Amino acid sequence: MKVLEVENLNLGFDCDDGYHQALYDVTFSVECGKMLALVGESGCGKTISAMSILQLLPKRARITSGVITFDNKNLIEMSSSELQHIRGRRIALIPQDPMTSLNPLFTVGDQLLEVIKIHQGLSGEKAYKKAIEAFEEVQIPCAEERLKSYPHEFSGGMKQRAIIAMALACNAEILIADEPTTALDVTIQAQIMDLMHKIKAERNTAILLITHDLALVKENADTVSVMYAGRIVESAPASEFFANPLHPYSKALLNSIPSQRGKTLDTICGQPPSIQQKISGCRFHPRCKHVMEVCSENIPKNYYINKDHFSACFLTKGFGQESL
Ligand code: SF4
Repeated sequence: MKVLEVENLNLGFDCDDGYHQALYDVTFSVECGKMLALVGESGCGKTISAMSILQLLPKRARITSGVITFDNKNLIEMSSSELQHIRGRRIALIPQDPMTSLNPLFTVGDQLLEVIKIHQGLSGEKAYKKAIEAFEEVQIPCAEERLKSYPHEFSGGMKQRAIIAMALACNAEILIADEPTTALDVTIQAQIMDLMHKIKAERNTAILLITHDLALVKENADTVSVMYAGRIVESAPASEFFANPLHPYSKALLNSIPSQRGKTLDTICGQPPSIQQKISGCRFHPRCKHVMEVCSENIPKNYYINKDHFSACFLTKGFGQESL
């Protein structure tokens, strides 16, 4: 069941030299108990798409069209007080750097109790019990003792667990995890991903994973949406995406991850465009190995090879359909 739907989201920035578009008709949905990975290089629009859901956008950002549906309501049209009831409580953010969410001056327990008080209306013994349960659920050992620790006394992985505990204490329906393991070493990374799997399976929580790490996506995601220069260029169930990627950008990304010993890795020539750069036709055409004349003049539509798998490329047009 879809719990969140982003449809045709167009967003840009009002800069001194005019309006620059950053997101182009971004469309994706997140389902209960599933993990959708939004994948792409830095600056492709993944984080700004996630921030649009929470309506935590920089001052100069402007949504020009699109709908973000959660609980039958458009988040874009909600008042700030309505959004406050949703942010943190029903849709929670797991940031790349947990220190941006933890206050170094207060114990982790105080911060968790504050969240429980605000979002659950609990205080005293009941709130304390809930805090211990949340710490135990994210497998922080000696929960009672650790509630008294300050953030600097926690390792990176423990801080990330504490942030997840805050989301669990509020029974969040959606977790937006923005590069949640980038700052962690590989073993801790695996533990945090295991924890997310457990939450997804046991609580039926929907997870939106924002990442550039395709190896992480392969091991964890149910669905993959690939973003390039502000547009989703391919979307598919994860198993199908890794077995049969369609878009040249997806293929290039997959060929650039180390997998088999002795296999030469591909590189994608050039750089992703800045938002100031105007690009005609397919936004990937200046870097595409398969570029054709049509690509620089016309914008490819999303061509579907089945109802769950599309690619925005003229090469897919030959065997895909514009809608199914
Ligand atoms: Fe490459 Fe053309 Fe496909 Fe764009 S539409 S990805 S330029 S082949």
